[in-house]
Amino acid sequence: MLWIAGSLFFCWMMVRECLSTLITPTGYDHPISSKISIPFLILYGTLALAFAWQPFQYWRFERLLSIKATEIADFHPAKVHCNTIFDTFVDQNYFAAGHADPHTGKIVFQYPWCNRLMDYLHHPQKANREEIVSLNIFTHESMHVRGEYNEAKTECEAVQRNYRAAKLLGVPDQTAKKTALNYYLGEYQRRGAIGGLAGSYFSAECAPGKAMDEHLSDSTWAR
Ligand SMILES: [Zn+2]
Repeated sequence: MLWIAGSLFFCWMMVRECLSTLITPTGYDHPISSKISIPFLILYGTLALAFAWQPFQYWRFERLLSIKATEIADFHPAKVHCNTIFDTFVDQNYFAAGHADPHTGKIVFQYPWCNRLMDYLHHPQKANREEIVSLNIFTHESMHVRGEYNEAKTECEAVQRNYRAAKLLGVPDQTAKKTALNYYLGEYQRRGAIGGLAGSYFSAECAPGKAMDEHLSDSTWAR
């Protein structure tokens, strides 16, 4: 919001610069300036674009994620929002890295999980733990939009689709498989070992050939 306000301010400065050659203020018999200052116009324009760049990048990323989340949620409409640090402060679910409403299709990423997912997509081969988790947040919340409420089932559906999700987001095939398996064999198993709230997302039945195996042809664990 602050970035957009900054951009609008410099747009207004451009308009003001142009108007100063056209409008005669009260008490004057001619406009304040006789000609527009091109260097100032360029400066204001550059600053307006610079301030607008970050919101524009987020808008594009949210749009991409919304399209791909809809696809992975079997075309239940999803709308992704990346919370700013200020949004996160006022979000009732600020303790969760992400949350989704199956009724509205709205998916929210808390700050800075969108940035982590962006980083993952920039260098998927060098993904760190948080970046791998950010991919799973995307898939997990998409599964809620698909209609699942139970956390263990939602998480298992996500585990099986993380490979598909990574590929949908443009990650090369082998790297997508590696990321998805890393999550399943690492973070997911750790949740089971930790127990408690983390453990409520885990099920021993979420494994190849077990009760929660959906036998997807492109499952993370399919050979
Ligand atoms: Zn959930």
